[in-house]
Amino acid sequence: GDRAEIPSYSVDAVAIATQRRIVVNYPQVNQLRPMAEVSRAEVCALIYQALVVLLQVPPLRSDYIVNADVSIPSFSDISGHWAEPFIRGLASQGAIAGFADGTFKPDITMNRAAYAALLGTAFNLPFERPSVTFSDVPSNFWAAAVIDRAYRSRLLSGFEDGSFRPNQPVQRLQVLLSLVSGLKLPDADLAVLSSYDDQAAIPSYARRSIASATSQRLAVNYPQIRQLDPNRDATRAEVAAMVYQAMVVMGRSPSLISPYIVNLAQVPDSSNPVPSPSPAPKPLTVVLDPGHGGKDAGTTSTAGIREKDIVLPIALKTAAALRSKNVNVVLTRADDRFIELATRVQIAAQSNAAVFVSIHGNATSSGNADANGLETYHYTQSTQGEELAQAIHNSILKSVNISDRRVRSANFYVLRMTAMPSALVEVGFLSGRVDSANLVNPAYQQQLAEAIALGILQYVQKSR
Ligand code: ZN
Repeated sequence: GDRAEIPSYSVDAVAIATQRRIVVNYPQVNQLRPMAEVSRAEVCALIYQALVVLLQVPPLRSDYIVNADVSIPSFSDISGHWAEPFIRGLASQGAIAGFADGTFKPDITMNRAAYAALLGTAFNLPFERPSVTFSDVPSNFWAAAVIDRAYRSRLLSGFEDGSFRPNQPVQRLQVLLSLVSGLKLPDADLAVLSSYDDQAAIPSYARRSIASATSQRLAVNYPQIRQLDPNRDATRAEVAAMVYQAMVVMGRSPSLISPYIVNLAQVPDSSNPVPSPSPAPKPLTVVLDPGHGGKDAGTTSTAGIREKDIVLPIALKTAAALRSKNVNVVLTRADDRFIELATRVQIAAQSNAAVFVSIHGNATSSGNADANGLETYHYTQSTQGEELAQAIHNSILKSVNISDRRVRSANFYVLRMTAMPSALVEVGFLSGRVDSANLVNPAYQQQLAEAIALGILQYVQKSR
């Protein structure tokens, strides 16, 4: 009830805390009183709720815990709008906000500064290049920091004249290019551009990226699915829809069904309409679990390569390979963040997935550089897990140059606690001379990823 009192610098933090049910308000649950002094009892309640998030203490019932479901902003002007589910989905993650009057204004444009701010709350991507100074972004500009972050993670770039043009509306093409670049989505066949009647309007420098965006289902075209309208200013609704689709690619949000998502399997050719398709088979879902992340680096090689930084790109490449085969992929993490083991298992349980595959890097405790090779684990009691591990292991050995250290059983937490068949791949030894040199090579990572994806598919086909 008093959201106007929340200082702007803390709005995002309060939104996230609220969504994670950390906020406890007494005596009135709808009064945050952000600027009031905090009592010792309130500190205890807030810290307890944070420990609940970390799964270290059991959740309690209290009428003073703010329930995120009711605090999701419900905008007054999106009911029945074509983009309503996308806007709600983003808002529920605290990634997009409306206006002070309670509206969202879905059909107005969004300027590039506001778009940078949205990217900043939606994604937490690693920085890949140093900051630059844009001629028209003074350091005291309200969006200077978010523009800098978006630039450093390659989500946004400036113009050739050194400007950023923060007040210019963002165009549909720019939205798709920024998402493809920031998320490093894999290339796709240019032939997919035939999904658009106006593909000639796509500038040649952007065709490869737009093909990639299309094959990853980032393009959302309203009202006509075959009109990309690349050079038109995007509406806030369109931005929300495409950013939401990017969060689906990252495994951060559930997929939505919308007739406006360009779906290669379903775009009718206007000259040659297809008969209505037979009901699609139940989609296959796979959970990929890149080990470690954030404060937990995993093992580190003598050259300083951290396990968390090796297993993430391998998992993302595996996810892309599976998605290109129409598999629904859920990632337990898609960027460099710390996730508890129990949370990983929870994500798997909620995903309805057919299999769970964890990806790790190995090391010997002695640092022996002569120990190299592939080990794939399954839970001791699980024959299905053993078959899955065997399928992935054999697939890797077939196409990747790595020595065979066999399929093994173990009592690892994520293998023991997951209900579906699960396996854990130790993709090589960071302490090993041969493996550590290979594992940093993106082409080698790609080979590994494709082999893991193929092994998973072979297991699923056999067991179905
Ligand atoms: Zn590990």
